[in-house]
Amino acid sequence: MSPPASDIVRFDQLAYRYPGGQDVLSGVNFSIAQGEMVYVTGPSGAGKSTLLRLIAALCRPTRGQLVVMGQNLSALKNRHIPAYRQHIGLVFQNFNLLYDRTVFDNVALPLVIRGYAYADIGRRTRAALDAVGLLNREKSLPLTLSGGEQQRVGIARAIVTKPALILADEPTGNLDPEMALEVMRGFQRFNEAGVTVMIATHAIDLIEALPHRIIHLEHGQITDKRPTAASQLGDRHGAR
Ligand code: ADP
Repeated sequence: MSPPASDIVRFDQLAYRYPGGQDVLSGVNFSIAQGEMVYVTGPSGAGKSTLLRLIAALCRPTRGQLVVMGQNLSALKNRHIPAYRQHIGLVFQNFNLLYDRTVFDNVALPLVIRGYAYADIGRRTRAALDAVGLLNREKSLPLTLSGGEQQRVGIARAIVTKPALILADEPTGNLDPEMALEVMRGFQRFNEAGVTVMIATHAIDLIEALPHRIIHLEHGQITDKRPTAASQLGDRHGAR
């Protein structure tokens, strides 16, 4: 059955196990509406990254169903994965930048790979850099930028193809609180412009002050509510 048109992501009794391992997710049921901004929290090892990887079709459900943008990912053929991923922007904790390339080249890369025309690449790359406030740094090398700026380059690269969905895995994990807040505000601005955003994060203090839904993941299952103080404590001590 296809999901209602307003759901961009829908997990239905989903389970996942890595090859040779045990279930890291089981009985996962939840959906994200088009245009929503959602944080995923939970102890280290709870399966937050795995959840994002499943949505990005970097791994496939073991059981149950995952439908993203109307596409049942269990039925998605390997040859259609690149086209599917064009609608998703991925942001990583460690920025994943090419350090011997300029800021411009890093952000332009997804467009170059997809064969966009030269003039389009310039226009779209500068629009993405403008959106993260880094237009004046396009000729810089990433290592001359602060951590927060480097992450904004990562975000510009994720949005340059105008994805419908942004998935960010611990995007502020390597940033100090001030830069982390700035990066989170950046995601909020994209969300206000209509993009659906899903962020896996440990930064409980940061997100509790922000108005969006928090999905808590523990023991491989979702509880669709704000985390308790006790579980946060476990999280800070790296409990598994
Ligand atoms: P989180 O992002 O919440 O820290 P992960 O999704 O990274 O959690 O990991 C969930 C569980 O899956 C952990 O127990 C982890 O050890 C295991 N896991 C993660 N990646 C792999 C892998 N490539 N192979 C086997 N097990 C993995």
